[in-house]
Amino acid sequence: MQRAGLWPNGVRQTMNSVVIEAGATQVSDGETRTARRALWTMLHQACIAAALAHFVFLLLFAYMGLTLLVWANIGGVVLFICSGLLLLRRRNAVAMALVVGEILLHASLASALLGWESGFHYYLLTLAGPLVVGAGGTTMNKLARLLALGVAYAALDAWTRQVQPVYRLDPGMLASIRYLNIAGMLAIIGFVSLTYARLMASAEGALQTLARTDALTGLHNRRHLLEIVRTTRSAGADGPGLYVLLCDVDHFKKVNDTNGHEMGDLVLQRVADAVTTTVRTTDSVARWGGEEFIVLLPGAGRVGAMQMAERIRGAVAALSLHGHLLHADARQAGGSLASIRLTITIGVARVEPAETIDAAIARADAALYRGKAAGRNRVVDAGDAAIPSFAQAV
Ligand code: GH3
Ligand code: MG
Ligand code: MG
Repeated sequence: MQRAGLWPNGVRQTMNSVVIEAGATQVSDGETRTARRALWTMLHQACIAAALAHFVFLLLFAYMGLTLLVWANIGGVVLFICSGLLLLRRRNAVAMALVVGEILLHASLASALLGWESGFHYYLLTLAGPLVVGAGGTTMNKLARLLALGVAYAALDAWTRQVQPVYRLDPGMLASIRYLNIAGMLAIIGFVSLTYARLMASAEGALQTLARTDALTGLHNRRHLLEIVRTTRSAGADGPGLYVLLCDVDHFKKVNDTNGHEMGDLVLQRVADAVTTTVRTTDSVARWGGEEFIVLLPGAGRVGAMQMAERIRGAVAALSLHGHLLHADARQAGGSLASIRLTITIGVARVEPAETIDAAIARADAALYRGKAAGRNRVVDAGDAAIPSFAQAV
């Protein structure tokens, strides 16, 4: 069974029990964090590549005797190494400011020393993307940054065309450097675009997971379960039969009343975990509502479905949960340990080929109701055949 495996902070597992500590919080969305970490790792690699590129240029300029450019490149190497180190220490904003500053200064200085034809000004254009997408602020802020970049670019153009460059290279060498810079600019733009594309794809993936997942338990939510039913049935993957188990925790209100809502939440997570570790990998578990769960069993017969329901009931009954009482009265009394005994009642129904999932769940619900009335902690088979008038299957 796949789910977005959440295991809250503050919950420790012992042999067959779980100790829940008050004040525990749920872990944040790991997927998003992984995506962000991947982004900063890529930027770190880009800093190493930039430092190396500056070093190669440094050797070239040293060979050509262009001392000022050698110093500029030494500065570039140092700044990119610093940015890489800052990224490793998660000082991301400072690192990015250094990178932007280096590109601005270096491109302007090299253009002034070698002239506009050297093509170092192209690197200024690579800042357009990061200034809009990478930096925060309102749309007006972003437009202002773009405008400032445009003005700086045009001013550099006008100025370098009016003054003589400090170093006068022969046209062949100047053209070679220009083509090298065009290649460098395209490499940077390509890298930045690919990085953004990757980030957007993983952010979209994280959003989709979020939209399909129950935030408390990490199980499928109601909407996603209905999607699974639809795809299972349209792919004909329901085999000999598709069964639904409607599971409802017994006397759950009492758990909340005695231990507090926060503890109730942790108990629900523990129940969700017990159910998911009991079912097969082909089954799906969803949180249907408050303390209600639905298990979907494709390709199951009636006996198999009843056996699975019985295993789930047994797994929940075997849970041993201890919680520090959160109740104000109990806290004042010394915060003694409460042992929470849980049971669950399950209604089992077959989703007949010609009926909707809603109709099958309604029959499972009726069976569940009978189980509650009969004393709870039991599995009840809906047994009855579907009503043929439910012709439109989900
Ligand atoms: P029964 O055995 O008849 O099912 O009794 P019950 O107490 O489990 O059922 P009832 O419907 O009376 O109460 C369900 C309780 O579940 C009430 C509600 O406060 C609680 N509940 C619903 N959703 C959540 C939740 O997300 N977290 C917590 N902690 N409690 C919840
Ligand atoms: Mg209920
Ligand atoms: Mg209940």
